[in-house]
Amino acid sequence: MDISLQQVGYLYGKDTPFEKRALQAVDVTIHSGSYTAIIGHTGSGKSTLLMHLNGLLKPSEGVVQIGDAKISAGTKTKGLKAIRRHVGIVFQFPEHQLFEETVEKDIMFGPMNFGVSEEESRRRAHELIGLLGLPADVALKSPFDLSGGQMRRVAIAGVLAFKPSVLVLDEPTAGLDPRGRKEIMELFHQLHIEENLTTILVTHSMEDAARYADNVVVMHDGSSVMSGTPEEVFGNEEKLSSYRLGLPRSVKFQRDIEKMIGRALPGLALTEEQ
Ligand code: ADP
Repeated sequence: MDISLQQVGYLYGKDTPFEKRALQAVDVTIHSGSYTAIIGHTGSGKSTLLMHLNGLLKPSEGVVQIGDAKISAGTKTKGLKAIRRHVGIVFQFPEHQLFEETVEKDIMFGPMNFGVSEEESRRRAHELIGLLGLPADVALKSPFDLSGGQMRRVAIAGVLAFKPSVLVLDEPTAGLDPRGRKEIMELFHQLHIEENLTTILVTHSMEDAARYADNVVVMHDGSSVMSGTPEEVFGNEEKLSSYRLGLPRSVKFQRDIEKMIGRALPGLALTEEQ
């Protein structure tokens, strides 16, 4: 399912004294099966943009097209519920939204609310527990008795239980230690490849953007100011630094080598980070 934003503008508190423009004429296209990273400074509009990707926010101006559905300011909210099943969002610190008494029930909650049978929902929950690398015996435990990293996996399983075809991740590794971060990012990479999940990652990590994404969008002051392959975006260091963004260390390292040897290296095959 392709998603595109065409000249999208968004105003918080529209027509009130607190009106605040968060997006301005944003054009972004996300192709089915791609892995897109959205980068940009705090306040550049990333979170506002991602809430447009499944109809949680309707654009004040322009059009958001999700598959065949076109959403604009006047679209009725009623038709948007089905879209949310296809586009799952993992918000920051998703474990804060866990609430059921067992892990199994928490993962089953979404599908059951969408009319999936109890038996099928339970089957999915157990499959996801395995897929996310959680021990099988967590199913009947309270999510609140798990470690922080495990709780996050349970919350992610809750989003995957809808069987979305697009997965949107808002800083999914915030607050995890380096090992936990790498494990979660590798897991999303695996889901992207094996389940052919279209993946959209909002991140502060230039390394993750360069390593995992095939498409990078740069947000600045509510506008989409750059987009392209990681090589194209990170290859333009001057423009990137005007948006107060740096190069991933690994790419920078490679460029230093290029300077030393006086010629370009073929492509930007990324080196392993510590
Ligand atoms: P980012 O995710 O890149 O940090 P946001 O999308 O959260 O950016 O914010 C974009 C702009 O919109 C910022 O100026 C922010 O202060 C403003 N903003 C975000 N949420 C709200 C809100 N609920 N009400 C008013 N302004 C908001």
